[in-house]
Amino acid sequence: MQFNTKTIHGGQQPDKAYGAVMPPIYQTTTYAQSAPGEHQGYEYSRAKNPTRHALENAFASIENGNFGMAFGSGLAAIDAILKLLKPGDEVISTTDLYGGTYRLFSQVFEDFGIRFHYVDLNDASKIEKYFSVNTRLIWIETPTNPMLNIIDIKTIASAAQKHNVLFAVDNTFATPYLQRPLDLGADIVMHSVTKYLGGHSDLVMGALIVKNSELANRLYFIQNASGAICGPQDSFLALRGIKTLHVRMQRHCENAEKVAHFLKGHPQVDMVYWPGFKDHPNHRIAKKQMDDYGGMISFSVKGKRMEEAISVVRKLQLFTLAESLGGVESLAGHPATMTHGSVPKIEREKIGITDSLIRLSVGIEDIDDLIADLEQALQ
Ligand SMILES: *Cc1c(COP(=O)(O)O)cnc(C)c1O
Repeated sequence: MQFNTKTIHGGQQPDKAYGAVMPPIYQTTTYAQSAPGEHQGYEYSRAKNPTRHALENAFASIENGNFGMAFGSGLAAIDAILKLLKPGDEVISTTDLYGGTYRLFSQVFEDFGIRFHYVDLNDASKIEKYFSVNTRLIWIETPTNPMLNIIDIKTIASAAQKHNVLFAVDNTFATPYLQRPLDLGADIVMHSVTKYLGGHSDLVMGALIVKNSELANRLYFIQNASGAICGPQDSFLALRGIKTLHVRMQRHCENAEKVAHFLKGHPQVDMVYWPGFKDHPNHRIAKKQMDDYGGMISFSVKGKRMEEAISVVRKLQLFTLAESLGGVESLAGHPATMTHGSVPKIEREKIGITDSLIRLSVGIEDIDDLIADLEQALQ
């Protein structure tokens, strides 16, 4: 089955009760048993719920995995992965991580005795020098947030295999429409479903997808034992969102490409970060591992001062000033004061998050309206 068919049919069957084409919202805690322990596969909705189960099958299908798991948020999904580890274990991760991931690593799991190494993996072969006997997990995002750096998934996967270390990829920015990390050798794919998979800015949810059944069983155990699941209503919304993922992503990519080129030629704009540019440092890797370049763009305004960037985002009318990304509507954010406000200024600037940086999640509105909005705000 091709990807564009999987988004609609992957892992799905008409409901067994009445043939409903969309999985019904099974808003129930528990399930009648005919005798103790005799049931139809569902006993209690923390462990398994039919609507969530249908969604988990859809996750597995679109990422070319065998097993999917849905969680109450993206961070709950990451939390489940970290619970595979023990005190003394080490994790290799990257410098420009999603802020919430960094906070979970540094302010929660450090206290449980897990050590994190944040390294620059723009040259993926450099990872070799960070392995120790205690390394258990490699955690990357690509493209990264908000600098849109690209990390070579295949190179990291072969290093992970060589050292027998788990390799997880946060595929939130790319989505499986653009990039399928399990096919490239990753062990776990994670999503903030909140973003492109949901696609309509109406839910908060996380997902994990794996191929290996033993790993899946450990994660299902943690999902049930820790209990950070999502409810059936949100599962239904996410399923509905995934059905249009391919058409939305196609338009996000087309619009972002036009916005990126518009910004690059604009006299008020300094740097534009978008992996589709030939002069992006890892354009060749992006071209190799992605089918297109996605809907996210960051850029800095000339002058390098906070006030200029803030004045631009305040003047935007169609682009809503808000956190989050990946919905049908265009959003703008100011990382230094919003998503990365908790990262110290020196640390921020080291990875390129200057005070004049603006991040755009380019939506699927008419491109002429989006460009006109940016033009008036930049003037
Ligand atoms: C939003 C986001 C997360 C966290 O997901 P939540 O659903 O907000 O918990 C993790 N990684 C990336 C790249 C994100 O954009």
